[in-house]
Amino acid sequence: MSTDALRKPRTSYGAAIPDQCEVLVIGGGPAGSSVAALLAKRGVDVVLLEKARHPRPQVGESLIPHVWKYADQTGASPLIEKEGFLAKAGGIAVWNGKIHRIVFSEFGFTRPALHVERDIFDELLLNHAESVGARVFQQVTVREANLGLDSPQVHYVDRRGDDAYEGQLNCRFVVDASGPSAVLAGQFKSRRLVDSRMRFLSLWGYFKNSRFVGADGRGHPAADINKVRPVTFVTSFADGWIWHIVLRKLTSVGLVINTETARAMDKAGREQFFLDTLRRAPYLDRLLDKAEYMEGSFCERPDYSYYSTKLCGENFYCIGDAASFVDPIYSHGVLNAFYNASMTALAVCESLKDPARRARHAQLCENRLRQFYGFSRSLALGEFGGDGVDAELVRHFMRQVPPVELELMLAASSISDRSENFHQLVREAGLGLHPARAGAHLMEELVL
Ligand SMILES: Cc1cc2nc3c(=O)[nH]c(=O)nc-3n(C[C@H](O)[C@H](O)[C@H](O)COP(=O)(O)OP(=O)(O)OC[C@H]3O[C@@H](n4cnc5c(N)ncnc54)[C@H](O)[C@@H]3O)c2cc1C
Repeated sequence: MSTDALRKPRTSYGAAIPDQCEVLVIGGGPAGSSVAALLAKRGVDVVLLEKARHPRPQVGESLIPHVWKYADQTGASPLIEKEGFLAKAGGIAVWNGKIHRIVFSEFGFTRPALHVERDIFDELLLNHAESVGARVFQQVTVREANLGLDSPQVHYVDRRGDDAYEGQLNCRFVVDASGPSAVLAGQFKSRRLVDSRMRFLSLWGYFKNSRFVGADGRGHPAADINKVRPVTFVTSFADGWIWHIVLRKLTSVGLVINTETARAMDKAGREQFFLDTLRRAPYLDRLLDKAEYMEGSFCERPDYSYYSTKLCGENFYCIGDAASFVDPIYSHGVLNAFYNASMTALAVCESLKDPARRARHAQLCENRLRQFYGFSRSLALGEFGGDGVDAELVRHFMRQVPPVELELMLAASSISDRSENFHQLVREAGLGLHPARAGAHLMEELVL
């Protein structure tokens, strides 16, 4: 195809992509859709470009109850409620032989935590952003953003028809919510993997007809999913840990292991390792006894834990997984995406009102995003030293977290042996909370 043909503006199908707007959002996952909805609701002219066509697959089905306050802000809560995702009661984790149970209602949460099919959940959020005024274009991939101009210029490839067309758009702010693709961090070369001892690989797939664990600590047949409230079930094993998240029709099961463990295997070898490990793992063998593995559902994500050293500037913001991702264990991914979107919408609105202070707003926002990152990191991973975390920012953040949320995290932190940093920071923040007093119950046994 000639370069001229590539540059031809596209108008023969769908709406034409405008050549300017106030805020351009890259990516329509939870982070991008939320920031777009928040800005559009405040009257900002937002364009969102999404590479895929939703519904698109995504991992990360377990949501903790904290997400509701952000869904309330964007206005998505009634839609989430109406969809009827599975409400879960809490979590049960078997870690190094000890069985811990956490029940969210005991902490005072009145709205449920959820197990969501992410393709449905993410599409719902994207449609919501569009319904409140964001201009959304799917199957449009952002290639790069030139931020060195008065008005940043974003270059994209529009793949909505049979051919691909290149285009560009000028805006005042770029918000990068492109998930692990991390478009801007790629440009800045600012992405860092965490310390090599903490490099993990995740392998996961989907099963039909799996038994599930109820809040009562008993195993239940798949058919009882609307009768018994499930929990997210986690179990550690010699090389790592496993999640079991029951959904309305399928069950998501995944392994987390050190990246080195599977370095020498090819993809087929890793899938076999995944299935063999599940068969041998305590409790999982019983839950999956009569389950049917969905051939072709195997996925993997190596070295998933990273952070970017550059998050916000006078005309750009990097949020959600485009900024950092820690670890799936405490279900902080979507929460982080929502929190980042909320902080960024505020900073961008203030900057639009008072452009002379936009550097200051960007700096304040970057501090907030780093606080949340450090909070999740101290909870989920072991030692961090100075690697990507400013402990003072985290202590400051902890003093502002609503006590109910911090207590739940403290209880959850007692399940793994990787939360020493978190306990130390809680102590140093002087909050009078102690892991031993937090509400995780030890159980004698599970009847699966
Ligand atoms: C193994 C694993 C398990 C997880 N489990 C959980 C869990 O149980 N609970 C939880 O809360 N989180 C979990 N997470 C994390 C969670 O999936 C992410 O944190 C969350 O999806 C982040 O949302 P996001 O909007 O930042 O990114 P994404 O959901 O990745 O969305 C980014 C979007 O940007 C689009 N995009 C990419 N590149 C471009 C481009 N160049 N141009 C335009 N669009 C682009 C993509 O198509 C995508 O739709 C898990 C993560 C992993 C790796």
